Amino acid sequence: MTNVTFEDLGLSPETLKAVKDLGFEQPTEIQEKVLPVLMEKQLDIIALSQTGTGKTAAYSLPIIEKIDLEGWQTQALILSPTRELCIQISKDIQSYAKYIPGLRVVPVYGGADIQKQIRDLKKGAHIIVATPGRILDLIGRSKADVSMVNTVVLDEADEMLNMGFKEDLNAILFETPRDKNTLLFSATMPSEADRLAKQYMEEPLRITVGKKNSGAENVSHYFYMVQARDRYKALRRLVDYNPDMYAIVFCRTRRESKEIADRLMRDGYEADALHGDLTQAQRDHVMNKFRLRHIRLLVATDVAARGLDVNDLTHVINIDLPEDVEAYTHRSGRTGRAGKTGVCMSIIHSREKGRLRRIENIIKMEIVQQPVPSGEKIVEQQVLHFVDRLRAVEMNDPSQDALLETARERLADLSKEELVDRLVALELSLLIKAYKNAPDLDYKEKHSSRGERERGRGRDRKPMREGRRSAGYGRDRGNWVRFHIGVGEKQGLQAGDIIGMINRATRSKDIPVGKIEILKSFAFFEVDANYVDGVEQGMRKADFRGKPVRVERAENSGPRAPRAPRRKKERVW
Ligand code: AMP
Repeated sequence: MTNVTFEDLGLSPETLKAVKDLGFEQPTEIQEKVLPVLMEKQLDIIALSQTGTGKTAAYSLPIIEKIDLEGWQTQALILSPTRELCIQISKDIQSYAKYIPGLRVVPVYGGADIQKQIRDLKKGAHIIVATPGRILDLIGRSKADVSMVNTVVLDEADEMLNMGFKEDLNAILFETPRDKNTLLFSATMPSEADRLAKQYMEEPLRITVGKKNSGAENVSHYFYMVQARDRYKALRRLVDYNPDMYAIVFCRTRRESKEIADRLMRDGYEADALHGDLTQAQRDHVMNKFRLRHIRLLVATDVAARGLDVNDLTHVINIDLPEDVEAYTHRSGRTGRAGKTGVCMSIIHSREKGRLRRIENIIKMEIVQQPVPSGEKIVEQQVLHFVDRLRAVEMNDPSQDALLETARERLADLSKEELVDRLVALELSLLIKAYKNAPDLDYKEKHSSRGERERGRGRDRKPMREGRRSAGYGRDRGNWVRFHIGVGEKQGLQAGDIIGMINRATRSKDIPVGKIEILKSFAFFEVDANYVDGVEQGMRKADFRGKPVRVERAENSGPRAPRAPRRKKERVW
């Protein structure tokens, strides 16, 4: 980093003051590279940069400086892939322009009342920040006019193209003047983005921040190698080992994200899913909970997490390795923002090692193998965290003195050691029990025998915290009885459906359910041995989506036992 200051970049006193108010002391690398160029010249720019590098200010400060406040017409159009990013950019611009009265920024995006946006546009919009579909709609209705803009910004251009906005972008750019300034910001440069640049930009200046396609510098990259079936357990261990974790857990499909979030919630974690099946209102609800930290683990697909603007994620977890490097770059770029450090953890299978190395080569950073935290390490970490919390408790409310005096009197016979032991037991006994003798989850080239693995599995499933469904977890494997059910993934069966069936069949919500395995056309679930008869009887009339379905005991059921599923198709959460 050089010693360039914002003062050196030719900003007006108003924007300088706003930037200082925001606590920005020095320009970021992209600001240093882009700002002076745009302040001086009319030039097209292609900037390869991650979100979190300060790119919004890099392009919007010069735009703000050049706005003619006397003019009523729209002078800049900023296109972004998602509603969330659109709102964020518009808020950022408003904060940069807070000492420029009369400068109007209007965000327009899909999934919101178009009439209100039309009213906002009517009041005047020097800058429009828009998602492609909505602005095209507004242009079509003659409610937005981009025919006189000086600048068009394509923010997260690769994401817009990924999301299928290519045609919309062509149509929008067609409506803008030929001699405008076009600025393309992208984390990656897929060939489609190159084509777009060739078509609409004239001799663009290419700027790369950091290394091309690089993972953010302040993100540490780790991987954990486990057997496919242990991914969920490994995830729980990573979460338990990092008690302050505030993370997005990435999955490849919306189904997986639902299933994992369901399991986490069942196991007592503050988690929820963000995926494409949610309505806009549900999506907003989940995101608000996440922003307010009412949930700390957001289980999401790549598409659903687009534009999600949360700056202080401690971790990004890949439940499996994404198919392509771009997705990895985008995912890991969601942590380590705004000068903070972050960690990107990938839970991988030995078969994914090749892909891991390809990703390393492209992001030019090492992804370091780490052991999955052992039960012992997790307990130690949690005890230390508890001690830190205990020390940090604020004790300055005099109104509680009398109450505390009573408590002290009642506990007077206990020594300090006993008190500490009891406090720790109270807070952590479930976790300590759950991780007692927990097996090693790291993938070994030479596997242990199946018997050993099975025994370990039973113990490791104990819940960390109490949950409605968790009451019977953690017994020895012998106490679980396995059932086979004649529908599976192909019919759309999900873990929640099985639990619903059990609830209906037994008219109870308290049957402890163990492992659920959903395979292509059938599934298995486990039930606490004490409840087997009730489940077996109730399930005789089981139905799935209105169709009768056969449910039978799978274990030791002689000739009726279904054939073992082929490993390859197994997807176990
Ligand atoms: P962006 O890449 O535009 O999403 O910016 C990421 C975050 O960095 C935002 O929260 C900005 O407010 C913050 N930011 C942008 N520029 C600076 C700067 N020069 N110094 C400190 N923080 C900044």
